[in-house]
Amino acid sequence: MTSIAFIGLGNMGGPMAANLAKAGHDVIATDLSIGAIDRAVEAGCRRGKTVADTVRDADVVVTMLPAGAHVRSVYTENYGVIPNARKGALFIDSSTIDVDSARDVIKTASEKGFQMVDAPVSGGVGGATAGTLTFMVGGEREAFERAQPILENMGKNIFHAGAAGNGQAAKIANNMLLGITMIATCEAFNLAEKLGLDAQTFFDISKTASGQSWSMTSYCPAPGPVPSAPSNRDYAPGFAAAMMLKDMRLAQEAAHKAKAATPLGAQSEALYALMEAAGKDGLDFSGVMKLIRGDL
Ligand code: NAD
Repeated sequence: MTSIAFIGLGNMGGPMAANLAKAGHDVIATDLSIGAIDRAVEAGCRRGKTVADTVRDADVVVTMLPAGAHVRSVYTENYGVIPNARKGALFIDSSTIDVDSARDVIKTASEKGFQMVDAPVSGGVGGATAGTLTFMVGGEREAFERAQPILENMGKNIFHAGAAGNGQAAKIANNMLLGITMIATCEAFNLAEKLGLDAQTFFDISKTASGQSWSMTSYCPAPGPVPSAPSNRDYAPGFAAAMMLKDMRLAQEAAHKAKAATPLGAQSEALYALMEAAGKDGLDFSGVMKLIRGDL
């Protein structure tokens, strides 16, 4: 049993903290929302009050926060993790944030003598609840090896992606690819339909041909061929377009700084931003099909 402090009990952090408690760890949990803390207590965690009180006696601190600014302040401000944690504690940040914030916070933690990894996830709320998340971990190998048994209580696939920040790099590069292939798949189904092919016929052909991808075979944006896909429930998420847009923006920010050419990433970001502008970013990201069809 490890003493774990968990900060950020939202859609993802709530079930992740619950799985750590279920695995037999002593989990103390806090959030800005009292309701979120109440739910964590019902799931077997102890109630944390301030961040400082929550982390004081913990061997491991896990954070699951919205964005880089939250992670920077929760770790580095006087009230936060680094000034108040126990000597030798391990920090795991599983939020999806910009690469620079991840690297800066890990550097600050390291200068104060703490090991820390960035460990963003894929798998969504379903994966967080089932304990089947994929973790992409950046940081020193020794820190990764300390984090691994804790992450195994919340996920199924745990990858060491290399140095600090590389977990975030893997996450945004993967999601940029997903965002692009989804739009490409929408265009192909729309073109096929306009040329007289029904969605099922095109799916049957293309899924065994060179155009197939996860976006087509597991999450088809045209209703019909994949019964579990959000396209069959009028694009109720799933993975909301707003969250895809967040990841696309992080990818573009990183690409500009690294001088990496990502022309399709830039176009795709603009298309998901049009869904936001239309007030439709609460739809699943495969709802970009509506935009391509001219239905938004
Ligand atoms: P969420 O908004 O539901 O939860 C974030 C929680 O952090 C909230 O409960 C909020 O009150 C809390 N919080 C914010 N500032 C705080 C502070 N200073 N102290 C304590 N608590 C604070 O978000 P989520 O859906 O759980 O996502 C969390 C992270 O995981 C994000 O970075 C997101 O991009 C990433 N992510 C989400 C999904 C998904 O499907 N929801 C999938 C993969 C990755």
